[in-house]
Formats: sequence, structure tokens, C-alpha cells
Amino acid sequence: MNAVLFGLGLACGVALAAAGAAIAYGKRNILLGGVVFLVGIAVVLGVFVLNARNNNDGPGKTEAPVLITTPEPTQAPEETGPRTGDMTPTPENTPLENPTDVPTDAPTATPTGIPTEAPTERPTSTPTPEPGQYLKVGYDPSTIVKPENWNGSVIYLSFDDGPSYVTDKVLDNLAKYNIKAAFFVVGNDFGGARGNYIRRALSEGHNVGVHSQSHEYNIIYVSVDAFFKDFDMVRDSLRNHIGFDPNISRFPGGASNGVSKKYCAGIMTQLTKLVPERGFQYFDWNVSPEDAMTHMTAEEICEAVFKELRSNRPANVVLMHDYEGQDTTAEALNLIIPRAFAEGYAFDRLTFETTPAIQHGVIN
Ligand code: ZN
Repeated sequence: MNAVLFGLGLACGVALAAAGAAIAYGKRNILLGGVVFLVGIAVVLGVFVLNARNNNDGPGKTEAPVLITTPEPTQAPEETGPRTGDMTPTPENTPLENPTDVPTDAPTATPTGIPTEAPTERPTSTPTPEPGQYLKVGYDPSTIVKPENWNGSVIYLSFDDGPSYVTDKVLDNLAKYNIKAAFFVVGNDFGGARGNYIRRALSEGHNVGVHSQSHEYNIIYVSVDAFFKDFDMVRDSLRNHIGFDPNISRFPGGASNGVSKKYCAGIMTQLTKLVPERGFQYFDWNVSPEDAMTHMTAEEICEAVFKELRSNRPANVVLMHDYEGQDTTAEALNLIIPRAFAEGYAFDRLTFETTPAIQHGVIN
């Protein structure tokens, strides 16, 4: 209620009540005095009631803002140690929310319905770049897939430690929903069968980034030079065998890994500056179903994903694995994707331009 009206009403009510009381007190006309007094009291009460109602649910009430990212409490990550085999899974760190992550504008593509049909045609070969030129992947507003009840949050699926035959299964299931994802690959033997998985992923619109050639912490985190020697082997193999120039990457163990301290103090602080200087955006994650740690069923992986998804943050970067033997991860997509759509999540692929770039806090 308007403050002036409130004051005016109050003053009128009090004046009437006082006049009534005076008339009655003077015994000139007790009946008239009593009526005037009661009317005055009623006006005062009425003014208070109207004022309270206006403040509670009046038309001037403003809605509380939504889509606020609430940083989760962070804990120092515990590494379980370096992996031993080239294709053996390593548990990645527990997820950390970067305290500096700032929510940005949601993607602007227009909403679409939930796709139920696979794309009508699948390209059969990788686009061939011109000689001396490399294929690149960048932001494309058409790659986002939103449900009609979009909740403002985007899920970015990412698969580490592949490619392998599981990559094919992952790609089959992503194609059913026309969803694009990112693959952070290991090794540098992309001249043969493993290269074909990468070709297929790129030809179907997914992104591919550098993870590590060796994935051995005691090799890559010994020094900056050692790290980039390993890193460049992956990039060069992608360039030379696939004709693709990657510009996204993911650190084994994440930027927040503490195990690197055992090999070189402060190396993650240096690398998180140097990798972007070399033209790469690195991505960590904020949803980690830990599918690599145990032999989880597809249902268990799905449950673990939904335990960490948050609809009130603009980006949910999901870390999963597509190395040999991780078949249940591919199966889990058939559970995760329809449920996520039903809950209002959109899907898109990570690219160099993706914001906010989910990055962990560095502790070494
Ligand atoms: Zn890995």
C-alpha cells in the first residue's frame, strides 16, 4: 500500500476515534460519541489489514531470481595413484566445483522437442580437410538439443580414456537422440582401428580433445616439458592421422589432482596457465558417476549421474569412460538421456567456446 494513503487513513481513523471519545466523555451525546469512536477504530484496523495484504501478495511483488549456481563445498581431492596399463581405467578425482565459475547466459537456440528418431543419414566418411589444413570443431548453435520444458541447464557428456569398441556403442546411442558429446582420447596410435572410432565421432558432429598419450602420472607430471611431450604426441597423431586439430583437453586426474605434487610441486599451477597459452581450453567436470572405478550396472551409473546433476547451474559436465570393457557406460545412456530430457535438461557438446568452462580449483 502507498505510504501516503496508509498515513492518511490512519490519521483519519485516529481523529474519528478521538472525536468520538471526546463527545462521549463530554456526555453531550453518549450514543453519537460511541458510534463515532467505533467507526474511527474500524478505519484504523482496516488500514492496517489492507497494508498487510498488499505487502504479502500484492501485484507489486517481484519474483525471486532463479538460475543461481550454488557452489558446492569443496574438498581436497584424493588420488588413488597412477594407472598401470595403457587402457586400464583410473579413477578420476572427486568432482570439485570451481569457486570462480560464473553462470553465464544460457544458449540461445530455440527450444525443440525431444528427438525420438535417429538422424536420417549418417555421414560415411570424415570431411577431408584441404592439404595443409586441419579439420576443426567450434561452437555451433545447432548442436544443442533442448526439451520443450527446458530448465535452463545444459548437460555436456564427456568420455575419457578411449577410443575403443565401446566408443562405437556410445556413438550408436548418442545418435538415437541426436545428441553430441566430447571424447578426450588417450594414446597416439590413430593410424589404425582406433583412429576409425575418432573419424566416426567427428563425422557425426562430436568433439575430440587431448587427454594423454601415456596417462601415467609419473611420466606426465614430472615436468612441464614431459607433460607437453606426452600431450603433443596425442595432438600430432590427431593431426597426422585424422587431419583434425584439437583445441580442447582434459588433464588426467583433473586440474585439481594432488598426486602430481609427488612428482613436481606446483606443476598444475603452471600447466593450467600454459595449456590455454597453447590454444587449448581445458575442461574438468562437476558430475562424476565413477563408472571407471567399479563394475557398475547401467542402472547404477544412471543413478550416480542423477545424484550429482543440478538443474540450477548452467553447465553440468559429466565425466564417463569409453575404454575397452566399459560397456555399461554406453548402455547407461539409454537410461540417462530420456530421464534427463523428462527433467528438462538440454544436451550439447563441449567446444573451445563453451561457457562456463567447468574447471576445478588447483591445489598443486
Ligand atoms: Zn583419464
